[in-house]
Amino acid sequence: MSAPRGGTAGAGQEGRAVGGRAPTRTSVLADASDLLERSGVPSPAHDAEALLLHALATSRSELWSNRDASVSEEESARLGRLLEARARRVPLQHLLGEISFLGAELDIEPGVFVPRPETECLVAHALQKLGAELAASPALGRILDLGTGTGAIPIAMLLALPEGWTAMAIDRSEKAIALASRNARRNGVEERLRLERGDFRDPPLSFDFSPADALVSNLPYVPSSSIPSLMPEVRDHDPLEALDGGPDGLDAFRVAAVSLPAWLKPGGLLALEIGEDQADRCMELFEPHLAGARVESDLAGRPRVLIGRMRGSRR
Ligand code: SAH
Repeated sequence: MSAPRGGTAGAGQEGRAVGGRAPTRTSVLADASDLLERSGVPSPAHDAEALLLHALATSRSELWSNRDASVSEEESARLGRLLEARARRVPLQHLLGEISFLGAELDIEPGVFVPRPETECLVAHALQKLGAELAASPALGRILDLGTGTGAIPIAMLLALPEGWTAMAIDRSEKAIALASRNARRNGVEERLRLERGDFRDPPLSFDFSPADALVSNLPYVPSSSIPSLMPEVRDHDPLEALDGGPDGLDAFRVAAVSLPAWLKPGGLLALEIGEDQADRCMELFEPHLAGARVESDLAGRPRVLIGRMRGSRR
């Protein structure tokens, strides 16, 4: 990465001093950001910094308080490999190997869907709704998550809810279930989270589908024909089965709407992440089952969370 600006970040070139002097962190960062920008990476400066922190195994505050420190050849080579992969649009989260998701620290692995900020918003809305009720009712309950991926939703929710809450989660991907199980241990909720491999359209008998107090899920909702035009990070690295919602994107929602009375107690909370142009069609599907159904917005103001209470009197 000591190559002059415009130079490549190929491993082996990096860290070689121009005129015998090792490059500083500041200059390395500027070069890294340029390289990513030229490769069409959406947030080049952010990603360059995240990868430099990873290559140096340091914190942001340490990086910036020692910004003129030199970068060793070994560190440069490590960064060069990361930048080369990011320039090929390998997702940042795959390169870092972990993310923070609300209060949870999650391992990330190729082959398992990378949790997104929109889903943090889904969980935040669900927790807010449950919070109001927790003050009035015993601190016991059960969450259901369909298509759990890394386990992000139930793990973050269990960390925020009283100890008496448990969760059941299903995914048909073996890799996802193995990773979710590791993440549950990493976050100390393995005793409270039951994970099952299977298809929620035809759940295995071992899966306890007795009605839950809350169903909080991020189901696949991308219309099949839109998948080729997704960003390369998503299209080429998230598993297809995590994205593909069928011809209009609503296949999984239709299954959930039909099965809702079996999955959710009367008065139970439904919170689903939806595509930003799916609010009206999702309301049509779920409103007959729900009291007070509404669509909440994410931080960017886009309608992304369908939320409501299962009709009928509670417990
Ligand atoms: N909830 C996670 C993952 C969302 S991606 C998160 O927000 O990060 C959707 C997940 O659903 C994927 O892990 C995919 O394997 C799983 N999935 C898709 N269709 C499924 C089905 N019919 N049965 C079980 N899991 C399914």
